[in-house]
Amino acid sequence: HADPAVRVPDAADIAEWWPRTGPGSDKYSRGVVGVATGSATYPGAAILSVAGALAGPTGMVRYAGSADSEVVQHHPSVVAAKRVADAGRVQAWVCGSGLGTDDGARTELRSVLATSLPVLLDADALTLLVDGQHATDLRRDAPLVITPHDGEFARLALERPGADRIGAACKLAAWINAVVLLKGDRTIVATPAGEVWVNPTGSSALATAGSGDVLAGLLGSLLAAGLPPERAAIMAAYAHGLAGRLAAEGGPVTAPDVAAALRPVLADLL
Ligand code: AMP
Ligand code: MG
Repeated sequence: HADPAVRVPDAADIAEWWPRTGPGSDKYSRGVVGVATGSATYPGAAILSVAGALAGPTGMVRYAGSADSEVVQHHPSVVAAKRVADAGRVQAWVCGSGLGTDDGARTELRSVLATSLPVLLDADALTLLVDGQHATDLRRDAPLVITPHDGEFARLALERPGADRIGAACKLAAWINAVVLLKGDRTIVATPAGEVWVNPTGSSALATAGSGDVLAGLLGSLLAAGLPPERAAIMAAYAHGLAGRLAAEGGPVTAPDVAAALRPVLADLL
């Protein structure tokens, strides 16, 4: 692909694509998202990614991970299990933020990749992919989405994105056969086939610890609701950017503020 046509979504696109709840919906028909994030060292990553997932369109969040008691204290609607393998039925998995990189984390990543479900990998899961490049088979039939910032991108692609961020994202997407959401002030979504979206709602208010974890949870919820992976990715980036802007109206922003702002942003958008 020499010169990919770059598309920029607007609010009407997001509203059109967002799944609606009808009178016949139940919690299962809306989709169930599995979240395998956080660890004893980083319980906050789990709390934030679940907060992102709860703002999405799914009817249930199942949480698998070692920080489960703190996660349930923060989010009483979550259905918790110790491990991915025990979590029960979900339609997509979010894995990585704050998971750590020990053997337990690797086991959880393997369990997630062994499913035939859409999977979103972020943060520590991306680090584990690089460490275990030979052990981890990324040629899955089900969609894979990765959400690297520049440092995570560099570990996977073996070089930083450079000036041509769109070209770099496309190259990595084709190479690993995944939808790549390359974070930045203009977040890029690239597919293995060379389709490219650029998010117009970026906000430097999002440059705060844990904000990416909120994005991952929301994106996972959209995957579990049945959205095509590239669409889920650009929808999540769009809403997340608006949430950063709204949160910034109240002063300095932390990641929980971004998560809390998703609800009013979506109420306004949809
Ligand atoms: P993470 O590094 O995983 O916490 O993710 C950071 C999030 O903040 C991503 O969604 C980035 O796109 C977003 N972000 C970081 N810096 C900026 C910036 N200067 N302008 C807009 N968005 C940003
Ligand atoms: Mg991150």
